[in-house]
Amino acid sequence: MENKRRKVHEELEVVQEGFANGVAPGFPLSKDDKAEMIDEAEIAYGQFLDALRCDWRNDPNSMETPRRVAKAYVNDLWAGRYTAMSPITSFPSDGYDGIIIERNIPLTSMCSHHHQTIGGAVHIGYIAGEGGQVIGLSKLNRIVELFGRRGAIQEQLTSAIHNAVSKITDGNKGVIVTIVGTHNCVSCRGVKHQGAAMVTTKASGVFRDNKNLSRKEFFDSLKINNGGHNI
Ligand SMILES: [Zn+2]
Repeated sequence: MENKRRKVHEELEVVQEGFANGVAPGFPLSKDDKAEMIDEAEIAYGQFLDALRCDWRNDPNSMETPRRVAKAYVNDLWAGRYTAMSPITSFPSDGYDGIIIERNIPLTSMCSHHHQTIGGAVHIGYIAGEGGQVIGLSKLNRIVELFGRRGAIQEQLTSAIHNAVSKITDGNKGVIVTIVGTHNCVSCRGVKHQGAAMVTTKASGVFRDNKNLSRKEFFDSLKINNGGHNI
């Protein structure tokens, strides 16, 4: 088995054709491309507010809003569509064959259906294979950021994060990802219910088997002093 660091990047892209939350054409975009996109989106958002009969041009609080919104989308809310993540280095597991869990990774995303924010936490567990690869914990946070900052439905986001972790930890015995998400589209519109959380889980390998203790160990670990994110 290879006993080396390994860099993984381009093959993390998993959004299928036909969905609008993949990377933008020309990805990763240059600084000039992004500046041009912000200018175009600013004009278009002003027209959107005009359509809503909002007198934004004469309100000191709103006159810069189209530009603020355009910048927020390009630089933050949808940054994962335009800006590439630096390659992730994985390391040999050096004989450790236990479960590796990072829990309570903060999530900010946006639902594809209503363009309202999704907040919450992502919990990730995996077991490296014989001579398999492990990754630094902060890299799991970066994967969550990359896919969260594109907008998605929570089910897609759970699968995308799962598949990315699985690819980087090549040869793993299993990967499990659970997201506890609070959707503003539920609390601010439609039914307007505060506090409801959506829980999604994508599991592979040993974590798919209910009789395997790894799945139980993962969920038990989330309950220990878990900062209020109850599963
Ligand atoms: Zn929604």
